[in-house]
Amino acid sequence: MSSTTSGSRNQSQHHQPTRPKAPSSKASSVDTGYFQETPRLKNQFKDDVAIQRILSLYLSPVLLKPLHKELDSLASTALSPKVLTWLRDAETNPPTLESHDAFANRNENLRTSVGWRKLSELGAHEGIVAEGYEGRYGRIGQFAKYYILSPSSAITTCPFAMTDGAARLLAQQIPKAPSSTQGKVFANAHFRLISRDQSTRWTSGQWMTERPPGSEVGRRETIAVYSPLAEPTNFDDVDELGPWIIDGYKYITSATDADMTILLARTASGLSAFYAPTRLPNGDRNGIKVVRLKKSTGTMALPTAELELNGMRAWLIGAEGDGIREISTVLNVSRIHNSVTAVSFMRRGLAIAKAYAKARVVAKNRPLWTMPLHLRTLAGLELLHRASTHLTFLTVHLLSVIEDSASPTSINSSGYLYVPSSASAIQLFRILTPMTKALTARLAMITLSESVESLGGIGPNETEEPMNIARLLRDTQVLSIWEGTTNVLITDLISVLKRTSRAGGEGRSWEVINEFVEENLGRGGRAGEAGEILERCKVVLWKEWKEFESILDTRSKEELTRSGRAVLWRLGWVICGVLLIMDARRDGDRVATDLAKRWILERGGIWGWDDDRGNEEEERRVEDRTGDDCLVVFGEELPTGAEGRPKL
Ligand SMILES: Cc1cc2nc3c(=O)[nH]c(=O)nc-3n(C[C@H](O)[C@H](O)[C@H](O)COP(=O)(O)OP(=O)(O)OC[C@H]3O[C@@H](n4cnc5c(N)ncnc54)[C@H](O)[C@@H]3O)c2cc1C
Repeated sequence: MSSTTSGSRNQSQHHQPTRPKAPSSKASSVDTGYFQETPRLKNQFKDDVAIQRILSLYLSPVLLKPLHKELDSLASTALSPKVLTWLRDAETNPPTLESHDAFANRNENLRTSVGWRKLSELGAHEGIVAEGYEGRYGRIGQFAKYYILSPSSAITTCPFAMTDGAARLLAQQIPKAPSSTQGKVFANAHFRLISRDQSTRWTSGQWMTERPPGSEVGRRETIAVYSPLAEPTNFDDVDELGPWIIDGYKYITSATDADMTILLARTASGLSAFYAPTRLPNGDRNGIKVVRLKKSTGTMALPTAELELNGMRAWLIGAEGDGIREISTVLNVSRIHNSVTAVSFMRRGLAIAKAYAKARVVAKNRPLWTMPLHLRTLAGLELLHRASTHLTFLTVHLLSVIEDSASPTSINSSGYLYVPSSASAIQLFRILTPMTKALTARLAMITLSESVESLGGIGPNETEEPMNIARLLRDTQVLSIWEGTTNVLITDLISVLKRTSRAGGEGRSWEVINEFVEENLGRGGRAGEAGEILERCKVVLWKEWKEFESILDTRSKEELTRSGRAVLWRLGWVICGVLLIMDARRDGDRVATDLAKRWILERGGIWGWDDDRGNEEEERRVEDRTGDDCLVVFGEELPTGAEGRPKL
């Protein structure tokens, strides 16, 4: 033992340590000390400049005026105590399944929470599906409502997505039905799917996934056999059971509580699509055994199950062997719903992050919302949201156009944006649907993850609604998986871009994108500072598009698929860039112009673009952007004296 050590011990034995002086302030306790001011969300329509600008690109002022009123009121409903109570109930009481009664008899009892059922009722009442078929505001109005309600919906939007897809498919099939009975069966189902009335409305499932890989739809193991009933059923015409019998195992099916389903099964002629009610008119299940519920990180309130089908009675949709083509109608619609969910979650996540930044005070007592680095982070996310929402609503508008181009709700009445009609619209829609779904789901993950982090340690907590940003992050994860994973959608996108022609050569279906880019960028610019910035954006975007077009032209489908993520980002970047320019050009709005500049000249929107074309040149010019960041994020000037405020 060293003398130093023993010396110090001796010292401590001889001298009583002096008690440190207590600090002048009091120690914190559970009820005393520093308390964070509670952040509050504003009205989620009034506070959302992005959606207001985007709606005005597509709808006339005559339609916008009443729609704004309804969206304002719906936004209040979405944050009302009643809806938040239902949301909490749906999240904390996930569905349960009892399979047998006390005497070991099979007696399936699938229970969902009151909150889940009430939120579903609310969505139907507000026309989350119906609005798209009623002709008042068309698809744009429908999805604007969906966008406002979705973050408070406990994913009741998932069954609505499939319901909408099934409604569109059945609407196409009714005039083609091979018998009057089948026509009546389909018409009855369609009427119920688009009903707002609780006593008549139905929801639909969409059952494709089985144990073999989802991306190999051809390997379905569910079998359908034509076996008409020997005796009529004595049910009403509209309840008549179909002549096909289906057996098989469906491995992942959401909306297990749905009233009907569209499903795939194999017949002697190949994969075919079918319609089936989930229950018989007497209330028994239509040959469906709910084997078990799935447990998922997100989508807690949504009943998702494995199902065994045994003698399910169904009607064939379209021709035998055409199943993939038929069900793609459902998928195209449900992918749009997925994209709208993604951008609506981005919006709510950002609203929470912004409310928190307004309430939180950080380093040396400075308001978090004025901190340059924090503002820069949030401005980057606002940019992702603005671009993604533009892309999504362009796809929604194209759906409108291909459904009914003559409807007043399909006429892009502002006239600022060129959108093709007829055959080109169908082609553009086909390209944009998988692209938009894939891109918005990925960007929503980035935005929600960053937004969670922006609340610091509270972010991952399952806090009270409506501030529960952790729930949004959990639910966002599934958006990139169901309705096709990112890479499966990219594969689909590239196969459309490089579609093989009947003669065997590779097609040039991206020409419709060229038309979209050229027609829009070629339109007249505007004068002034905004006009000058937008002109520079136009030149850069056009050059990038032409370079990318030559890549599409010269590389084979296989080569493009190998670097598919880059194809997704670059194509998405071009289309979003066009939309941002066109939005800003119409009025030279300062924030809209700044967003176009950030996206195009600074490449602020590119995440995961795996080449090294960075943004050095423009980055050098962006030394002091805190004031602009503040405008982009909060729509207000940075307060005088805040760090980063440009010197006057
Ligand atoms: C909560 C939830 C609810 C769902 N609800 C439904 C429902 O209601 N109805 C329904 O039918 N399905 C539903 N699904 C299933 C979902 O659609 C599938 O899980 C999804 O399409 C992926 O299919 P898979 O699980 O078979 O994965 P796989 O196809 O096995 O994919 C596994 C991985 O391989 C990758 N991959 C596959 N093929 C390729 C390729 N060619 N190139 C590159 N990568 C590839 C995928 O990107 C993925 O990362 C649901 C899923 C979840 C999570």
